[in-house]
Amino acid sequence: MDPDRVRQALEPVLGYPDSYSPGHDANYPCPFCVKEGRGKISHLHVNYTKGKAICHGCGWKTSNLRNLLLAVLGRVPRSLVVDDGGDGDFVEHIEAVLYGKAEERETVVQEPELPAGFVPLVGRPSDKVGKAVHRYLIDERAVPFDRLVEVGAGYCTEGALSGYAVFPVHVGGQLVTYTSRRVPTVRLNGPKVRHGAFGKSASTALFNYDNCVGCRRLIIGEGPFDAFALHRRLNPNHGGLASLGTILHKRHVRLIEALEPEEVVVCYDADAPDKAFKAAAQLASVGLKASVMTVEKDPDELSDEELCACYRARTLVDPELGAVESWGTEPRR
Ligand SMILES: [Zn+2]
Repeated sequence: MDPDRVRQALEPVLGYPDSYSPGHDANYPCPFCVKEGRGKISHLHVNYTKGKAICHGCGWKTSNLRNLLLAVLGRVPRSLVVDDGGDGDFVEHIEAVLYGKAEERETVVQEPELPAGFVPLVGRPSDKVGKAVHRYLIDERAVPFDRLVEVGAGYCTEGALSGYAVFPVHVGGQLVTYTSRRVPTVRLNGPKVRHGAFGKSASTALFNYDNCVGCRRLIIGEGPFDAFALHRRLNPNHGGLASLGTILHKRHVRLIEALEPEEVVVCYDADAPDKAFKAAAQLASVGLKASVMTVEKDPDELSDEELCACYRARTLVDPELGAVESWGTEPRR
């Protein structure tokens, strides 16, 4: 089992931890304590690398995360169980348990929509939440207002995402899903990130895709703030994308190919270098020129000069040989 895939399948059910570093435990409110109606809900500690989970409150534990998936399976949205060709038996297995055998299954097409209470962000919001979200995104996170307008960013004043900044994800003019960030000055509690219910095209979600049409180079980060910080920043021909995670699905790759970029640069967080090289190798395997750019901080925390230095030091990836060439002296362009 791919630890990232297991995590991707579980987190819509278990919630998103405020912090997670690969190899360490991720902590969630224990769903088994909840089921038992215990007065105090303990943490379910899940270690994706070791494939183990334990709750010290109710005592639920497993040394095979498949059991955890099966235990909470009834609540895993089908759209998140995407068959991308890898680990096929596992996908077949959980889909069969959930929905019956393939031939008996109906095709459910869920129309993606924005969350309840969504309000588009404007230049001078008049409401309290809008003002706070505006301040957070523009003053604190330094996102240019134009970038927010381009993606149709907004916020929620009510509903489950009340107090979240919401970033719709459009591909080919169609809303595919949305991602969001909790605005700490408006909402004190809740997961940092919440994604929309993915439609059928879950694995085609590339944030800021439509705004990258015509860009000669694409730089792919993990989340929306990466895409904002990379888009047209060093060069008007640089398109900033976010893969909303560190996995590139085949359909992502096809979408990227369709933009006919001269080069695709993968710029994932410093703690995911293997993922970045894997993603770049996937892109290179279909004939795209792909490279990896290493950053020590999030791109939005780097100055233009620092970002430029990282960009110039990027490493070209060969589909078979891995990293083969390092720039470093290439003139800025
Ligand atoms: Zn428990």
